[in-house]
Amino acid sequence: MRILVAEDERTIVNDLKRSLEAQHYVVSTVYDGEEALFAGEHESFDLVILDLGLPKLDGLTVLRRWRARHKRMPVLILTARDDWRDKVDGMDSGADDYLTKPFRMEELLARVRALMRRSTGQSSPILANDVLEIDTRQKSVSFRGQPVQVTPLEYRLLALLLHHAGSVLSQSEIVERIYDQEVEHDSNALEVVIARLRRKLHSSVIETRRGQGYVVPAARP
Ligand code: CA
Repeated sequence: MRILVAEDERTIVNDLKRSLEAQHYVVSTVYDGEEALFAGEHESFDLVILDLGLPKLDGLTVLRRWRARHKRMPVLILTARDDWRDKVDGMDSGADDYLTKPFRMEELLARVRALMRRSTGQSSPILANDVLEIDTRQKSVSFRGQPVQVTPLEYRLLALLLHHAGSVLSQSEIVERIYDQEVEHDSNALEVVIARLRRKLHSSVIETRRGQGYVVPAARP
């Protein structure tokens, strides 16, 4: 899951990045409204954390332009303390949730998890199909009821595919969402991780669709 953090206060950005990465999210950061607008229009994110008080272009304008261009990713806005008008304007402009600064990181993480679930129509913090189960609060994985130890990268891959169970994700969609943008990776790296997970769990846990990408099967009804 890839998150864009658009915030100009470095200490908040650093705290957010560290906390979100500890939860195995891939985090991209931008520090002004123009960068935010560009990133939101040209890259894909599963969620955006958007400060309303951004330099160059304010957060509300950025949000309105994204929504006018049919960018529908969930957006959590950060507002200054007690500025109720900002919250109202933000929600009216297409924000999905808001937090007032200063906020507790635990609350922000809970809201992020809830927004991620809502965006895919899931009501539970547990992602599951017939064989695989992931607890997104504990970051734990089990296969056929048995706990499995996975690396953070393996977790990100499994959680992403299970989040979109039944839908094929292309190699580039996956790579964009599970690797840090600053880290260079060769095209074989994803295949290596998938091969390792198939050995660790079962060869059928991730299916390859030739020329299209990879899919984790949805639960049978
Ligand atoms: Ca600010």
